[in-house]
Amino acid sequence: MQNLEYAARVEEVKRRAHGRWTEILASLGVEERILKRRNLPCPLCGGTDRFQYTDKFGEGNYHCRHCGPGGGFKLLQAVKGIDFNTALQDVERCVGAVLPLLRTVSTEPSAERMKTLAKRIWDEARPVIAGDEVDRYLTGRGLGLASYPKVLRLHPALGFYEKDGAGKARKVAEYPAMLACIQGRDGHAVTLHRTYLEDGRKAAVREAKKVLSSGINSAAVRLFEPTDELAIAEGIETALAVHLATGKPVWAGLNAGNLEKLWLPDSVRRVCVYADNDADGHFDGQAFGFALARRLKREERRTGPREVQVFVPKEPGTDWADVWCAKLQNSRRAA
Ligand SMILES: [Zn+2]
Repeated sequence: MQNLEYAARVEEVKRRAHGRWTEILASLGVEERILKRRNLPCPLCGGTDRFQYTDKFGEGNYHCRHCGPGGGFKLLQAVKGIDFNTALQDVERCVGAVLPLLRTVSTEPSAERMKTLAKRIWDEARPVIAGDEVDRYLTGRGLGLASYPKVLRLHPALGFYEKDGAGKARKVAEYPAMLACIQGRDGHAVTLHRTYLEDGRKAAVREAKKVLSSGINSAAVRLFEPTDELAIAEGIETALAVHLATGKPVWAGLNAGNLEKLWLPDSVRRVCVYADNDADGHFDGQAFGFALARRLKREERRTGPREVQVFVPKEPGTDWADVWCAKLQNSRRAA
C-alpha cells in the first residue's frame, strides 16, 4: 500500500509539473521529434504511426491507437526504460524538491481514516453565501464579507459528539457549523476546524470550536492568498478582523502553540503577526507570536531578509477581533 506521504509527494510533483511537461520531457532527454506532436511509432508498443504526443491536458498527454492514452510519467518511463519511482525522482529534480509531506499526519495511526472523515464532512458542506448561518454568525460579530474565502464552508447539520461515562464518543446533537480547511505546507488539507453555530451565534456547548484531529503542526487556515506580504493571527475570527481592518492577506494558525511553527512561503517578505493579548492568563498569545517572529528572523539566512512585526492589543484578555468589534460599535454610536 502506498503511504500517504508518498501519494502526497506524487500529487505535488504532478501539480508542479502541470503545463510544463514538454519542457520537462525535453530536458530529461526525450527526443524532440517525439514532442513535435507528429504521428510516430509508439515508444510503448511499436507500430509505424499509431502514436501522437498531444499534451492535451497539460499532463504530457499522448495517445496511441493501439495501447491507448497516457501522460508524461508513462511516456518518460517508456522512452527511458525506467520505473515509476525513477521517473518521479527525475521529474522532481526539474520542478524542485518536494519537501517531506504530511509527516505529522502520516505518523498517526488513524490518519487514513481521519482524512476520509474530513473529506466526507467537507464534501457535505457548501460555500458560505450571504444570509446563511456562517454569514449570520460572522456578520453578527462585525466580520461579514461580500464574498467569503473558499477555505470556509457551511455544514448545515454537523454531528456534535460528547464522551459518555465510558469515554465513548456519542452524538448528542446536530448544529450548523462553520468549517475551515487546514492546509499543510504542500497545500493539502490535513484536517478541518469546526465552529458549531446556533441562532447566529456560537453554539452554547462546552467545546463549540474543535479541530477534527490533532497534529496540525505548522498547518494554517489560508484565508487569503499571500502577496509578498502576509499577516498572521491565531483565530479565524481574529484573522478576518485583521483583514477587514488592514486589507492584508491573513492566515490563521488556530492556536498559540502552532503559531510558532507555522509554515510560510519563502516568497513572503513582510510578515505582521497580530497576536492575542493573553496577559490575563499565561501570556501564550504574546509568547508564541514573538516566537514566530524570532524564528522568521533566524531563518533569514535561508530565506533572505524579511520585515517582521508583532502587534498586540493593549487590553489584557483581548484579541484583534475584540478591538475591531469595539471600533465598529464606537463608530456606530458616533453616527
Ligand atoms: Zn502504443
